[in-house]
Amino acid sequence: MAKVLCVLYDDPIDGFPPRYARDSIPHIAGYADGQTAPTPDAIDFTPGELLGSVSGELGLRTFLEANGHELVVTSDKDGADSTFEKELVDTDVVISQPFWPAYLTAERIAKAKNLKLALTAGIGSDHVDLQAAMDNGVTVAEVTFCNSISVAEHVVMQILSLVRNYIPSYQWVVNGGWNIADCVERSYDLEGMEVGTVAAGRIGLAVLRRLKPFGVNLHYTDKHRLPADVEVELGLTFHPDVESLAKACDVVTINCPLHPETEHLFDDAMIGKMKRGSYLVNTARGKICDRDAVVRALESGQLAGYAGDVWFPQPAPRDHPWRTMPNHGMTPHISGTSLSAQTRYAAGTREILECFLAGKPIRDEYLIVQDGTLAGTGAHSYTAGDATGGSEEAEKFRKAS
Ligand code: NDP
Repeated sequence: MAKVLCVLYDDPIDGFPPRYARDSIPHIAGYADGQTAPTPDAIDFTPGELLGSVSGELGLRTFLEANGHELVVTSDKDGADSTFEKELVDTDVVISQPFWPAYLTAERIAKAKNLKLALTAGIGSDHVDLQAAMDNGVTVAEVTFCNSISVAEHVVMQILSLVRNYIPSYQWVVNGGWNIADCVERSYDLEGMEVGTVAAGRIGLAVLRRLKPFGVNLHYTDKHRLPADVEVELGLTFHPDVESLAKACDVVTINCPLHPETEHLFDDAMIGKMKRGSYLVNTARGKICDRDAVVRALESGQLAGYAGDVWFPQPAPRDHPWRTMPNHGMTPHISGTSLSAQTRYAAGTREILECFLAGKPIRDEYLIVQDGTLAGTGAHSYTAGDATGGSEEAEKFRKAS
C-alpha cells in the first residue's frame, strides 16, 4: 500500500463544483510532434471538470482507494506546521501542481524517508530540489506536453494585450469612460515587430507557429537548434545566445525551464540590452527574471510592458511588487490549468501512478530524474542543481490572510 500526498489549490470561493460555462471540451488525442496524449487504463472524471482544486482531487480517489492505497489531499503546503510537512514524513508519492507548488526542498526530502516519486501534475519540476532528488533516489516525473498549447495560447494573448494596451482600455470602459486618447497613447500594432522566444521547445515552438500569421519577424534561441526546414517554414532568425536575441527584438517571450542556468537570466544587465520600450512576457517561471530589475525597467520605461503568469514564490506575497508595478498584465499562475489542460494532466498523473504502482516503466518523455540522474525530458532540458532557494517566503501569503 502506498501513501499518496497530493497538494492542490483551494476550491473556488463560491463553492465546489462551480457552474460550468460549457458542457463539453474538445478531445485532444495527441500533439504536434506525434506524442500521444495521456493513456491511463481508465479515468474516473468527466473531461472539463475542475480537477485541480482540493475537492477535484485530480479524479484520483476512486482508483487509489480501490487498489488499497491512501490518498491525502491538502492545499496547506507552506511552513513547518503545514499539513503537507506533517504528512510528508511517511508518504511514498508527492503530487504537486506548479500553480500552487509544494516546494520539495532538500530539508523536506530529508524528512520524507519513504519518498520514492515526486510527480508534477503539469510541466516544470523546479519546485523540487532536483539535486536532492538525485541524491536520495527519488524519481521526478511530469506530464510533458499536457499544457504546452494552453500556455502558448496565453503567451499570444498577453503579447497582444500588452502591445495593444488592452487591459487599461478595458478598464476605461468598466469605469464609464470613453477616453480614446488615454487608451491609444500606448497602443501599437504587433505587425512588423521583431518577436523572439528564449527556448523553442514544446511551448516556444507553438508560440512561434501561432504568431507567424501576424506578419511579425520571428527569432529564437535554444540549446539545440530546430530542424532547418522548420526555420525556413517560419522564417526564423536563430540567435546563439539570449543576449543577441534580447538586443534584436521588440517582444521577448520566455519559454525555458527554470534551472540553475536560467535563474535570474533577465536581470538589470540583460534587460538593459533590450531596445527601450520592449515587451517581456514570461510564462515559464518567475525566478527566470530578477523581480526588482523588472520593476525598475517598467518604472524607467526600459520595458514598455511585462506580462506572464509565473511568480516567485507562489502564491506571491500580498505585497509582491509585481502586483502594483506600472504597465503589467500579470495573472496568477493559470495558463497551464485551464479546464482543458486539467483533463490532460489529471489523466497523465493517473497514467504515471498506474505505471509506478504496478512497477512498470514510466514513459521516457515524462521523466525528469530517475536512478539518481537527470533522465528523459529532464536530461534534455534541465541542468543538475536546485532552484528552490527562497521558497519559504511562500508562507507569507497565508500569514497575511
Ligand atoms: P520543453 O522541454 O519542451 O522545452 C523547454 C526548452 O527550453 C527546450 O527546448 C530546452 O532546450 C530549452 N532550454 C533549456 N535551458 C535553456 C537555456 N539555458 N537557454 C535556452 N533554452 C533552454 O518544455 P515546454 O516548452 O513544454 O515548457 C517549458 C517551461 O514552461 C516548463 O519547464 C515550465 O517551466 C513552463 N511551463 C509553464 C506553465 C504555466 O502554466 N505557466 C505550464 C507548462 C510549462 P533543449 O531541450 O533543446 O535542450
